[in-house]
Amino acid sequence: MSLKRRSFLKGAAGGGAALATAAVVSAPAQARPNKVMPPQAVGLLYDSTLCVGCKACVAGCKEANDLPVDVSTPDALWDTPLDIGPKTFNVIKVYAEGTADTKDQEKNGFAFIKKSCMHCVDPSCVSVCPVTAMTKHPQTGIVEYNADACIGCRYCVASCPFGVPQSEFDTPTPKIMKCEMCKHRQAEGKIPMCAEVCPTGATIFGPIPALTEEINRRKAMKAGEANVFERRVIGSGDTHERPAAKYLDHVYGEKEVAGTQFRHMSAVSFTKLGYPELREQSYSSQSEGIQHSLYQGMIAPVVVLGGLVWAAKRASHIEDEHPEE
Ligand code: SF4
Ligand code: SF4
Ligand code: SF4
Repeated sequence: MSLKRRSFLKGAAGGGAALATAAVVSAPAQARPNKVMPPQAVGLLYDSTLCVGCKACVAGCKEANDLPVDVSTPDALWDTPLDIGPKTFNVIKVYAEGTADTKDQEKNGFAFIKKSCMHCVDPSCVSVCPVTAMTKHPQTGIVEYNADACIGCRYCVASCPFGVPQSEFDTPTPKIMKCEMCKHRQAEGKIPMCAEVCPTGATIFGPIPALTEEINRRKAMKAGEANVFERRVIGSGDTHERPAAKYLDHVYGEKEVAGTQFRHMSAVSFTKLGYPELREQSYSSQSEGIQHSLYQGMIAPVVVLGGLVWAAKRASHIEDEHPEE
């Protein structure tokens, strides 16, 4: 018995390829649904209109997380981080336009911006980590990092839509550095340091439902009228009074990439403040959907292989019956 190459390829093309195509078509890439907020989710609210730019939260974060100074001036006298980085989990930045005279105003005004981990509801950094060094706590939803499990691939760095995780660069065994919502302090019954030290309540901590209620209360305030604002944690009773700002209806983090546990309120548009415009579907829901489809598609090579074997046997049988063709 001999199997002619032409017969083999003909049979393979007609049998295996058709089956393989059918298998691939039957497993299209689909996004899975967004993940949802865990039951006891906690979070932070940053209200740019209450922020006075004192940076007590930046210094407090450094102290709480034992982070070194991050200098950006030639004299190297002060801790002056320009952005989050391996030595800085939390920064306050400034938007300024024109004469920058009026706070919380887009034209000829200025506004403050706080940047740190958003503790996404459906985080990309967790989704891409091949060794589960990045995890989302099933109750609190805090996105945590385990340096012992980390293999330094930096997929989390590349995947975060907010540019949050940062790899150390001045050590032979670099770790990924990012805010973990002061989980070590929370384990001791304390609140995150940035909320603890904030003198105006611009950064406030609490369970997500309470934070959402507070956000809605602030959105309903009439601009310019005196209102009461709490400090540190929702329900603390530690209050101060001041005129409410003209809040935007958009609360950043409510819907972006399936929502985040760090929410932002402002009177100046988030685009002006440098926050990325993001869709409501999480990136991980899409990438995991495609991966899942690809793994399902592993059926395709099996079917192709089966198709090829079947085609080869069939061609061999025809060769035996019609050896002169
Ligand atoms: S902001 Fe980035 S690092 Fe933080 S949870 Fe979301 S994806 Fe992860
Ligand atoms: S929660 Fe803790 S680690 Fe995160 S920004 Fe606030 S102080 Fe820093
Ligand atoms: S401590 Fe509060 S008021 Fe001061 S910069 Fe930070 S968020 Fe703003």
